[in-house]
Amino acid sequence: MLDKVVIANRGEIALRILRACHALGIRTVAVHSTVDRNLKHVAMADESVCIGPAPSSESYLNMASIIAAAEVTDAQAIHPGYGFLSENADFAERVEQSGFIFIGPRAETIRLMGDKVEAIRAMKDAGVPCVPGSGGPLGDDNAANIKIAREIGYPIIVKAAGGGGGRGMRVVHTEAHLNAAIQTTKSEAKAAFGNDMVYMEKFLENPRHVEIQVLADGQGSAIHLGERDCSMQRRHQKVVEEAPAPGITPEQRAEIGKVCVEACIRIGYRGAGTFEFLYENGRFYFIEMNTRIQVEHPVTELVTGIDLVREQLMIAAGRKLSIKQSDIVLEGHAIECRINAEDPETFMPCPGLIQHFHAPGGPGVRVDSHIYEGYRVPPNYDSMIGKLIVHGPDRDTAIARMRVALSEMVVDGIKTNIPLQQRILSDAGFQQGGMNIHYLEKRLKEQKEKTISIV
Ligand code: ADP
Repeated sequence: MLDKVVIANRGEIALRILRACHALGIRTVAVHSTVDRNLKHVAMADESVCIGPAPSSESYLNMASIIAAAEVTDAQAIHPGYGFLSENADFAERVEQSGFIFIGPRAETIRLMGDKVEAIRAMKDAGVPCVPGSGGPLGDDNAANIKIAREIGYPIIVKAAGGGGGRGMRVVHTEAHLNAAIQTTKSEAKAAFGNDMVYMEKFLENPRHVEIQVLADGQGSAIHLGERDCSMQRRHQKVVEEAPAPGITPEQRAEIGKVCVEACIRIGYRGAGTFEFLYENGRFYFIEMNTRIQVEHPVTELVTGIDLVREQLMIAAGRKLSIKQSDIVLEGHAIECRINAEDPETFMPCPGLIQHFHAPGGPGVRVDSHIYEGYRVPPNYDSMIGKLIVHGPDRDTAIARMRVALSEMVVDGIKTNIPLQQRILSDAGFQQGGMNIHYLEKRLKEQKEKTISIV
């Protein structure tokens, strides 16, 4: 087993990784910025190293500082969590070149999946169903691009090959707007990702977001752990996630899961990963692969009973997968609500001092959060302050448990999106299940118009 791991992240995921390490008897090194000295996991880690000032570019994205922290503490491996450097192939490479284990896939796999054009090509070759599209980068020949778009059929979406976080995408409904959309997306992509390569895909109008969780040991074995539905989104950011996805049959699950497992084996995938699909009219369309642990991993943990972070650590230690596909049996239903320090109406981030905190409890309730009374949420990072996850024998019970848990949860001193989550959980469409990725924004817009008309 590994002896000592550097946790190159902050917040709830840093705490999650720390817990998995300690449960395996692995010692931990917390690295943190100057404003993060009071993070819960920093206090709980065996050692801690300050890696720089508050801006993440100088701390959590500072490769040299993080690797130096591993050196001075004589650690063996680095866990990147999600966000920050977790999908940075150069970082993975530098970690390994410095003699440490990167807890994730090989650098070349991360590089392949980070280039969406290449990723789609590789997945298509591996038999994964993809969205009809240009199949490659778009050139400057307007007539040729018009031809591609006509073949795909409008509406289409222009996407940056290096895009991420829901940025670098533009929907085009008519030919007249195609060229301008390509040029704008290109220049935005150049500025945001340093890469102006763009491609084109059919724009699916009412899809759901359904993703498959995989684990692979990089030694020839891979399994899937079923799917998650993450269709409740605002500005392409997931707000509520659940497992299993409403309406997906065991046969569909087995079929798409097998395709993902085969793709993992083909590309020599190592670690935990997620194949993201849009799902429309009973069909799956691959959009991208995430080569890291995801925010929403707990819902899969609750329905499968598998500790995904533990498995990441075991795989990084060179162990072969000890779980077989036949061991994966889904039980009940799990839902996760992301809890953000933000105004529930305007969505403006709301950092500040947490004066009171009360965590909900009861059967099937899990709170993954680093906050505590007296903790000050800094303004420098993502506004997510935790996740509330529930599990029940069926979806209705899970919803009921989540509603009780949300009503019990108290975070005083700052604004949070708990009222928004309560509205979502009591919404008839959500309760019915299987809503598409536009549903939440549509409902928010309707509510806003209603409030305005009342005023
Ligand atoms: P990112 O890496 O920025 O998250 P994705 O390719 O995963 O980019 O797309 C993010 C979101 O954008 C999807 O979850 C979906 O809401 C929307 N989207 C992307 N591609 C399409 C498409 N072809 N049709 C419809 N919506 C799309």
